[in-house]
Amino acid sequence: MARLGYSEEHQAFRHTVRSFLDREHEPQLARYEAQGGTDRDFWRKAGEAGILGLAVTGGGDFTFNAIMAEELGRTVGSATTGSSLMADIATYILSGHGTEAQKDKYIPGILTGEWTQAMPLTEPNAGSDATAITATALRDRDDYVINGEKYFISNGTGANLLYVVAKTDPAARGKGMSVIIVEEGTPGVTRHKIKTVGWGCGDTGALNFENVRVPVTNLVGTEGGAMKILMSTFLEDRIQIAARCLGAASTALALTLDYVRSRKVSGQRVIDFQNSQFALAECRADILICETMVDASLQKLRDGQFTFEDGAVLKLWSTQMEGRVLDKCVQLWGGAGLMDENPISRMWTAARIQRIYAGTDELQKVAIARGLMG
Ligand SMILES: Cc1cc2nc3c(=O)[nH]c(=O)nc-3n(C[C@H](O)[C@H](O)[C@H](O)COP(=O)(O)OP(=O)(O)OC[C@H]3O[C@@H](n4cnc5c(N)ncnc54)[C@H](O)[C@@H]3O)c2cc1C
Repeated sequence: MARLGYSEEHQAFRHTVRSFLDREHEPQLARYEAQGGTDRDFWRKAGEAGILGLAVTGGGDFTFNAIMAEELGRTVGSATTGSSLMADIATYILSGHGTEAQKDKYIPGILTGEWTQAMPLTEPNAGSDATAITATALRDRDDYVINGEKYFISNGTGANLLYVVAKTDPAARGKGMSVIIVEEGTPGVTRHKIKTVGWGCGDTGALNFENVRVPVTNLVGTEGGAMKILMSTFLEDRIQIAARCLGAASTALALTLDYVRSRKVSGQRVIDFQNSQFALAECRADILICETMVDASLQKLRDGQFTFEDGAVLKLWSTQMEGRVLDKCVQLWGGAGLMDENPISRMWTAARIQRIYAGTDELQKVAIARGLMG
C-alpha cells in the first residue's frame, strides 16, 4: 500500500538516511557495542550525509524527523544504540527559542555533527512529575550557578551541548524552571553511563552539577520558560516515537518471517502452523494500522490539527503495539528468540523502554482521560 503524504523530497531523504544507516550504523555495531556507544566519527559522518539539524535544513517540516526516526527504528542496531540520532529534535529548541548569538554559535556545528545534544530534565526523584525537579540555577551577577543531579539522560555522557533544565525560581515550581546551555568541559560537571536493559550500547547518562558557573547569556528563551519550550516539541516527539516503533516492528516481522520459513519442527516449517500464520497476520495488521496513524498524525500536524490528546493516544498505542509485535515474534523464534546473538532478543528488550520514557503509559492515559472528562 502506498504511503500518503510523502513528497519526492521526503522519499529521497528516506533513501539517504537508509543508506547512511546501512553503511555507518549496522556494520559498525560490534565496534559500538565494544566501546559502549556511537562516537564522534558517527556524528560527523551523519553531518556529512546531511541528516542532522533537520529543524533547520528541513525548513520546519517535521516529516523529515519522522522519516529519520522510522528508519532508525528499522535498523537492528538502534535496539542497542538507543535514541542517538533522535536527539536531533533538540535542534528545535535552539532554532525556536535560542538567541541569535546562540544560533550562530551552535547551529553550524549541529549540522556537521561537531555539537551533539542532550536534554537533561529528569532527576533521581523527579520523572513523571517534571515540576518536582530540585536542580537549581541561581543568579550570581552575570552568571547562573547550577547545582543538582540529572538521571536517565539520552546521549548523557557523549553530548557536548547540554540543555539543562533547572529552577531559576525554586518557589515558583513549574513556572520557575528554565533551560540553560552547559557545554562539555565546563568545570563542576561530572557524568557517567548507566547500564540499561535493552539499549546495550545506548548512552544513558547520570550527570552531576556542582557549582557549575555559566554566563546568563546561556539562558534559552525566557527565565521560567522551560515548560513552554519543552511543550513546543511535545507533539512532534510523540510522532517520532511512534515512527520509531513502526520501523522496529516492521524489521522484527521481516526477521521473523525469514526465521519461521527456515526453522523446521516435527518435519514442518514453523510458518506452516496455522497458529504461526495467525500471529504473523496480527503483527502485519498492527504494523499497517501504526503506519496509517503515523502518516495521518503527520498530516494533522502539518494542518495544525494534531492535538495533545492525539499525541497521547499515538504514544500509548504505538509503543504498546511495538511491545505486542516483538513479544509475538520472540514466541515464534522459541528459545532462539532469547539468545543475545539473535537481534530479535535485543529488539524485544529495547521495545520495553518506549512505554516508559518521554511520558509513561499511565501519563498518556491520564491525558486521554482528562480529555474524556472535559
Ligand atoms: C532509556 C531512557 C532514556 C531517557 N532519556 C531521557 C532524557 O534524554 N532526558 C530526560 O530528561 N529524561 C529521560 N528519561 C527519563 C524518562 O523520561 C523517565 O524515566 C519517565 O518520565 C518516567 O519517570 P520515572 O522513571 O522517574 O518514573 P516515575 O515518575 O517514578 O513513575 C513510576 C510509576 O508511577 C507511575 N505514575 C506516575 N505518575 C502517575 C499518575 N499521575 N497516575 C498513574 N501513574 C503514575 C508511572 O507511570 C510509573 O509506572 C529517560 C529514561 C529512560 C529509561
